[in-house]
Amino acid sequence: MARIVMKFGGTSVADLDKISNVARHVKREIDAGHEVAVVVSAMAGRTNELVAWTRDAAARPDQREYDVVVSSGEQITSGLLALKLQDMGVKARSWQGWQIPMHTDAMHGAARILDIDSKVLDAHFAIGEVAVMAGFQGLAPGNRISTLGRGGSDTSAVAIAAAIGADLCDIYTDVDGVYTTDPRIVTKVRRLDRISYEEMLEMASLGAKVLQTRSVRMAMVHGVRLRVRSSFEAPDKVPPVDMDNLAALGTLVCNEDEIMEQQVVSGIAYTRDEAKVTLIRVDDKPGVSARIFGLLADANITVDVIVQNVSEDGNHTDVTFTVPESDLERTRGVLEAARPEIGYGELVDSTDIVKISVIGAGMRTHAGVAAQMFGALASKGINIQAITTSEIKISVLIDAEYTELALRTLHSSYGLDQD
Ligand code: ASP
Ligand code: MG
Repeated sequence: MARIVMKFGGTSVADLDKISNVARHVKREIDAGHEVAVVVSAMAGRTNELVAWTRDAAARPDQREYDVVVSSGEQITSGLLALKLQDMGVKARSWQGWQIPMHTDAMHGAARILDIDSKVLDAHFAIGEVAVMAGFQGLAPGNRISTLGRGGSDTSAVAIAAAIGADLCDIYTDVDGVYTTDPRIVTKVRRLDRISYEEMLEMASLGAKVLQTRSVRMAMVHGVRLRVRSSFEAPDKVPPVDMDNLAALGTLVCNEDEIMEQQVVSGIAYTRDEAKVTLIRVDDKPGVSARIFGLLADANITVDVIVQNVSEDGNHTDVTFTVPESDLERTRGVLEAARPEIGYGELVDSTDIVKISVIGAGMRTHAGVAAQMFGALASKGINIQAITTSEIKISVLIDAEYTELALRTLHSSYGLDQD
């Protein structure tokens, strides 16, 4: 017998039929003798609708009332799933964040989980009752409802799993696992049986949207075994959780040393959400970079790729970097205001770029991964505008127009294509 958390995202609980399907997945695990806590999202699209209502109601909604409104989608699905389970003869009850309670800080709209009192849940497990929990919400100081930020129910699920000492946190979603790259672009993709926490973190932060980045980080820190799998498989066609054979289904996110045949490159991710900014003819003197990036940091703008040339004449140089596209306007504002102080010729920017990253824990021990990437792109005539690397990732900026070609080329070059 294992203690498992089963998390179902918005598309898995989109209507009553889907909620019945979810109930059957839960019943399968209960019948197999497992202890189950379920974490649910709001029905697909519901949270967006609730957010829009708060904006229609007030130009600048009070964040505490915003949380009251947007957390309600999860309340509905938790109650409906508990009803469906009861209807099938499974003991179940719903839990809202405040009832557990899951304490958070006071950052309404993007709250962090502080602690979870799991004692009360244990008593309910002991009588064989399924806890159906509303994800995404918690209890902030002052007895107010909080929410964890969009996509936060993955984080709720991992936090609950850590708190109750679950053996596994199964994330049920609309895909059957984590793929080597985006299946909408590359047809020869493969599903990964296993991926390490660190690789998954990189994939998630680069826009592979299967799991919220925060949830992966939390799982890594607390050693929660996390698995991504599909809720759309017929519940009676899949076997119940077998702790000795977790990689047989979906994708298991685990420690690096649990992956026997580590590929050098495990996956290729991309994001079109970044914009490139170049400051031309920047005064080449000590403290200039500190000033530029200090100003951006003060404005809470996260800078990613940074390239600075050595100046040819000893007086001027160009500085290129990327920022989230949504922060481009503000970036321009900040730097244009500080132009006399920083001293530069011109600011140019572009949003027609894509950042492509190859990710793999095997890079730590293999040389030549970067050279292979650059070679593969060059063979297709794709120009690289900037490069950045970390221990297990190499990213390049290229023209957005070459996104598909680059992904396909790299996918075959690293031997990821399915035969
Ligand atoms: N319902 C929330 C959202 O749409 C939380 C979640 O689904 O993870 O952001
Ligand atoms: Mg989600």
